[in-house]
Amino acid sequence: MLIISRFAPSPTGALHLGHAWSAVQAHDRAREAGGRFLLRIEDIDGTRSRPEHVQGILDDLTWLGLAWDGPVVFQSERVPLYADALDTLHASGRTYRCFCTRAEIEADIAAAGHAPHAGDKPPPHPAKCRYRKPQDIAKRLARGEPFAWRLDMENAFAPYFGIGWADEIAGMQVAWPFAAGDIVLWRKDAPASYHLAVVVDDAAQGVTHIVRGRDLFEATHVHRLLQAMLGLPTPVYHHHPLLVGTDGERLAKRHGAPTLADLRTAYPDGRVLADQLRSGALPKGYASA
Ligand code: GLU
Repeated sequence: MLIISRFAPSPTGALHLGHAWSAVQAHDRAREAGGRFLLRIEDIDGTRSRPEHVQGILDDLTWLGLAWDGPVVFQSERVPLYADALDTLHASGRTYRCFCTRAEIEADIAAAGHAPHAGDKPPPHPAKCRYRKPQDIAKRLARGEPFAWRLDMENAFAPYFGIGWADEIAGMQVAWPFAAGDIVLWRKDAPASYHLAVVVDDAAQGVTHIVRGRDLFEATHVHRLLQAMLGLPTPVYHHHPLLVGTDGERLAKRHGAPTLADLRTAYPDGRVLADQLRSGALPKGYASA
């Protein structure tokens, strides 16, 4: 079997060591098996993506000695594919228009007794729009009110109860995609959601092994359902442990983690850093959790 893996960063900020750790593992998973390693730039959100970060990603991977196969794929160029997939999901009858603003959703969640933004996971969407009357929807559409498309998760999942996936780290998993509530499929302010685009692209690119951080584990429950609904194959997953600071905090720009560009003074040859990550000897100040 030809193993195809990918690295799929969003160009919304500079890459840090956690990205390098993930890219090295995705790259090696394919290379060690004589397979292919692909690079996809997840720039679907035009309001947050920046061209300078795209160049930074290419430079960082080259510096790390991680060569990708074939052309770089940009999600911003693939919107018609996602629109086709959305049509397929509409045909299931399990999609609905959501007119709620972010503020309304947060107020509803607070009223239901959940603190918004508590922890890493978003609280489930209250799904108010799932029950709107056709007349109400028609009125809002006539007024030109913007809307997102969401998935009616309970009814969408019902026919697929019991589906799962193989995870190289966590073992066999049974999908249970309810943690994020009725996920957005198509956004108000940008095209396809992350969930829809990533599932369509991984299938279109023939990705067989998805190597990514454990922070995306919950998302895989949703991705597995979308694969089933769209009739797409299920890749093998490999959710690797995250790299954290020695204080246990996750690496993210908000914690002031040094970017890969910052690390170039200490590592003029990034291949040395990549090898260090492979050997498990993490640079000072980092741990794996
Ligand atoms: N674009 C996502 C991110 O940068 C990763 C997507 C994935 O690996 O599935 O967090």
